[in-house]
Amino acid sequence: MNIGVLALQGDFSEHISMLKRLGVAASEVRLPKDLVGLDGLIIPGGESTTIGKLAVAYDLIEPLRQFGREKAIWGTCAGAIFLSRDARRDQPLLGLMDITVIRNAFGAQVDSFEADLEIDALKQATHTEAPYHAVFIRAPIIENVSGEAKILSALADGRIVAAQQGKLLATSFHPELTGDTRFHEYFLSLAR
Ligand code: GLN
Repeated sequence: MNIGVLALQGDFSEHISMLKRLGVAASEVRLPKDLVGLDGLIIPGGESTTIGKLAVAYDLIEPLRQFGREKAIWGTCAGAIFLSRDARRDQPLLGLMDITVIRNAFGAQVDSFEADLEIDALKQATHTEAPYHAVFIRAPIIENVSGEAKILSALADGRIVAAQQGKLLATSFHPELTGDTRFHEYFLSLAR
């Protein structure tokens, strides 16, 4: 299995390390040709406006949309924003997932936090019981899920922090910044 990580901006190297830990061939994607032969793509956290502008500059928008119509894509934090249909402001988006997001919904960098999530799909796929410890850094919330998209996880107060639409996955938090490989394993099960 070959998984690409969009390497325009943000913490792509942490995702590559996580994939290598799982014994998966991982490569950096910067140009449309880098998508050839991949089974899935991860779009990392960072700054969604910057990722979007660079994707426009490198003519990646349409190739990424085409890729996402057939293959698995997972966006973490800024990557989830980039996958969404609407981020309530004018910035380049892939619009692949039927989700709307609110950027920086928990406040500034100092309001970053961690939380234990109960994610049934993850537990089932990895045959584990432990809650998932999630890291939120200037995270978006998923305001609304419609169409084919489904809620995968919400905080105790109901705010949605993970969604799935077929092979497309969006998480507000950063599994690549923890030692827990279960979310990456879950994504690999979608890409397979
Ligand atoms: N605040 C960033 C944005 O709106 C996302 C932050 C992150 O990816 N950790 O794009």
